[in-house]
Amino acid sequence: MRGLMMDTPLTIGSIARHVELYHGEREIVSVTADAPPVRTCWRDCMRRARRVANAMQTLGAKPGDTVATLAWNDHRHLEIYYGLSGAGYVCHTINPRLFAEQIVFIVNHAADRWIFIDSMFVPLIEKLKGQLDGVEGFIVMTDEAHMPDSSLDGLLCYETLLADASAELDWPEFDENTAAALCYTSGTTGDPKGVLYSHRSTVLHAYASVAPDALDLRSRDNVLPVVPLFHVNAWGIPYSAAMVGAKLVLPGPKMGDGKTLCHLIRSEEVSIALGVPTVWSALLQYCDDAAQTLDRLERTVIGGAAVPRSMVQAFRDRHDVVVIQGWGMTEMSPLGTVNTLKAGLEGLSPDDKLDLATKAGRAMFGCELRIVDDEGRELPRDGVAFGALQVRGPWVCNDYYKLEGSAGTHTHDGWFETGDVATIDPEGYVAITDRTKDVIKSGGEWISSIELENTAVGHESVAEAAVIGVPHPKWSERPLLIVVPAPGAEPDKSELLAWFDGKVASWWIPNDVAFVDELPHTATGKIKKIELRRQFADYAFPHE
Ligand code: AMP
Repeated sequence: MRGLMMDTPLTIGSIARHVELYHGEREIVSVTADAPPVRTCWRDCMRRARRVANAMQTLGAKPGDTVATLAWNDHRHLEIYYGLSGAGYVCHTINPRLFAEQIVFIVNHAADRWIFIDSMFVPLIEKLKGQLDGVEGFIVMTDEAHMPDSSLDGLLCYETLLADASAELDWPEFDENTAAALCYTSGTTGDPKGVLYSHRSTVLHAYASVAPDALDLRSRDNVLPVVPLFHVNAWGIPYSAAMVGAKLVLPGPKMGDGKTLCHLIRSEEVSIALGVPTVWSALLQYCDDAAQTLDRLERTVIGGAAVPRSMVQAFRDRHDVVVIQGWGMTEMSPLGTVNTLKAGLEGLSPDDKLDLATKAGRAMFGCELRIVDDEGRELPRDGVAFGALQVRGPWVCNDYYKLEGSAGTHTHDGWFETGDVATIDPEGYVAITDRTKDVIKSGGEWISSIELENTAVGHESVAEAAVIGVPHPKWSERPLLIVVPAPGAEPDKSELLAWFDGKVASWWIPNDVAFVDELPHTATGKIKKIELRRQFADYAFPHE
């Protein structure tokens, strides 16, 4: 027997309607590429989003067409998100930090018909234009006064396009499984792969994100997403913040700038900020140098890479800010686990709480998790067994765009192989220990490079650290620690290795340390281990 409840589709347009009706006056503050910070509100955002939708129709877009963006976090990008997806187009966000050939690949693969671009990316597009096969026009996200001189054909001005379009539109209703947004993963090998989010997956992910034991988002929150709108929909914040009617503070192109972030957090009374660890290192460093505190900030959500204990401690002790670690990936919209304190753990000592905070967190309802061994057998949740982490749920991809059935990333019983290696403890907390491709196997046992890296960056002389496995005649592989020294520091190898004593198992301690000026990073800021292994291909441990 079927239930007798309404089948109202879960669409992004329904979030747009809700926020405009109930939180219309709530502010959106935006640092832009071309002007002083802009103050608008959710009502203006949705009015202009409707203009974007109508403008696309006038240009000839059809439902289901992919339209790209190449832009930072500002109010225009947010309007485009809603204008495109809300009207049934697919909003394809492109990471401007990708290599030029990757951008060409994904624009052509996605068959984008138009691209919205921040004016600072016009020179990039000029270089690529002959290779972007199906693109009919480029819309520069600025006004006439700031339109760049350009040789590009089909260059349109965003503000003019909006001014000429009607703001009248009823957000259409359609099947909630309709595609809404597209984001390509930038793996370290092979071509980027497209993850195609649906309206349903987006809305369910937003519902789960706002829950108290997840991000605990409220209407009273002032939210600063330092995670880019071009990467996994800025962790879904454009939707979850709208769902609850929070104030949104968008940092524009100033994402990695500690001074701007500190100023925004203080002046806009930001209560929750989200970003990857490197962003927060810059902010913490700036605050130390400039003797600033982050008075109003209550919590920061950190994910995308492991969060070092020293970072959680710095936020807690110097700024009275709670760190909430999250784990997920592009294929998961992205959130899978969130680290909040579970009932029964309130009495942990401050030190034990710090240790717990360095884990990736517990599964959100809606994201099932399991760890398996090489034969696919499920491993115990004892906090000790390492295994390949698999997930499933309504906001996890079930395939890649135009690669249906051929990516080999799903098990026969429908779980997605994340490529991460993890432990799960009896309380359900997941600790990510490595990427499958990066694990170090010493004498048949696994060593967590992430735990070693986190320990290393806790040392005051270390700015950044990476650990890779290097062939070893006796143990098959042993860890090599690669360190970027902190500015002005001249760390000593034996002192660094002694730092690990008592912090990790003695047989995990790296065999040697190498110093470098910088580490190679991917377009999403992760350390490119594959490149490091190439750089150290000829390295041999001393005396062996
Ligand atoms: P992306 O799809 O670019 O967002 O990258 C997802 C990957 O980032 C995951 O598969 C993990 O390897 C890594 N990652 C994300 N969050 C964390 C975390 N909290 N701790 C460790 N690694 C993480």
